[in-house]
Amino acid sequence: MNMSDARGARERLVVIGGDAAGMSAASQARRLKGPDELEIVAFERGHFTSFSACGIPYWVGGDVPDRELLIARTAEEHRARDIDLRMRTEVTELDVDRGRVRARDLDSGAESWTSYDKLVIATGARPIRPELPGMDAPGVHGVQTLDDGQALLDTLSRTRGRRAVVVGAGYIGVEMAEAMINRGYEVTVVNRGREPMATLDPDMGLLVHRAMEGMGITMVNDAEVTRLLTGDDGRVRAVATRDAEYPADVVILGIGVRPETALARTAGLPVGEHGGLLTDRSMRVRGSENIWAGGDCVEVLDLVSGQLRHIPLGTHANKHGQIIGANAGGGYATFPGVVGTAVSKVCDLEIARTGLREKDAHRVGLRFESVTIESTSRAGYYPNASPMTVKMLAELRTGRLLGVQIVGREGAGKRVDIAAVALTAGMTVDRMTALDLGYAPPFSPVWDPILVAARKAAAKIRASM
Ligand SMILES: Cc1cc2nc3c(=O)[nH]c(=O)nc-3n(C[C@H](O)[C@H](O)[C@H](O)COP(=O)(O)OP(=O)(O)OC[C@H]3O[C@@H](n4cnc5c(N)ncnc54)[C@H](O)[C@@H]3O)c2cc1C
Repeated sequence: MNMSDARGARERLVVIGGDAAGMSAASQARRLKGPDELEIVAFERGHFTSFSACGIPYWVGGDVPDRELLIARTAEEHRARDIDLRMRTEVTELDVDRGRVRARDLDSGAESWTSYDKLVIATGARPIRPELPGMDAPGVHGVQTLDDGQALLDTLSRTRGRRAVVVGAGYIGVEMAEAMINRGYEVTVVNRGREPMATLDPDMGLLVHRAMEGMGITMVNDAEVTRLLTGDDGRVRAVATRDAEYPADVVILGIGVRPETALARTAGLPVGEHGGLLTDRSMRVRGSENIWAGGDCVEVLDLVSGQLRHIPLGTHANKHGQIIGANAGGGYATFPGVVGTAVSKVCDLEIARTGLREKDAHRVGLRFESVTIESTSRAGYYPNASPMTVKMLAELRTGRLLGVQIVGREGAGKRVDIAAVALTAGMTVDRMTALDLGYAPPFSPVWDPILVAARKAAAKIRASM
């Protein structure tokens, strides 16, 4: 029996996960279909909905003064738009055959089944938390949710010591290093990789490493954490690697995330080699007519390599939500894929990347040339022109742009968007050299750093023919 038969003409859309992807999907579906046609029930196990995890480092660091500023839309605002959002309610089972989910109210413990005609899985990602001694000690914090951010701030307000160890040097790790510097802490970053920011090639990561050391941050690379040591009071007191111990009054974990797909896997839905749900272009879960998935719990098509990847970013989650909402709301939309663009900063150092790193290109069998150039953010004679390094990869023979990485100061990071557009358009580096980019001395040298890199790459490709 189609569930909508039992409820009359009105269909029911159930959404699991009430943040970026889930609530974008619910909101978009609601824009397309009113409550007479579509009932929308959304389950969120946490205390907050539609919040910006991206803002947590800036809230903890003090740039954003108030947690409420990170909440884009409250539960009440969603309900006012006829979305039945059930907070603190966890979906514990998905019964695909009967088209229903079992949910538990985390406060009362009450459980019940809710049937669906259409389902959206937007369960996000789970932070990696290795099972090491001391991991659960007071003073050890993740930064995935607003609750995590609040718990960290509470700890900081109670802690007299001023030594912070950040474990992990991806973008969350470096952003949290900045947050702790801003709060006046002595910061050590312990990193398993050869250089910080493994989303860059190591030569560009080295620039980040040196700049962070220049900010007074102690960088420990090639170091695997083996345990967290606790004091007599049970609180964390140091982070241990095989070779050394780093004293810590507070420890922040930024080790990465994995797709949260346990529910979907148990229900027999398809997951890929990176652990994310597999969807088609309309974000419909492969093999399911009426189930969509998006955000951090899915794998996305990398348009440059042609491979599926797991890239947990809010920018994708919001877009997925829009696409899903359009489709679940009776319209039609597709998500083409991504080129892997990301930008972040640590203090005044901006770090950006798009497309393939050298090792990505090697992995998929692409042969390429790479160039690295030094330039400035403004005309050299203009006040506050700051240095910037741009690395560019282009495919041998064809000259197709494959990737760009940028490390520099103010004005460096968002330049990567030029490269993101060029990648999306499938441009060659030769073609890029003629891009009509804006120029005036306060904004760039007459040859923008991206154009300088494209010219050098194009010359190298020509020379290799
Ligand atoms: C500190 C930090 C900084 C970040 N900075 C950036 C940035 O600068 N730029 C960027 O693009 N991205 C950034 N991100 C990533 C971005 O926040 C995520 O990609 C985005 O939140 C993913 O949205 P989502 O809806 O897929 O998943 P989530 O935001 O994780 O939401 C999933 C929701 O589902 C709920 N849920 C899961 N399982 C169940 C269940 N069984 N029942 C009920 N509810 C469930 C969870 O409680 C959660 O609220 C950052 C993330 C963090 C942690």
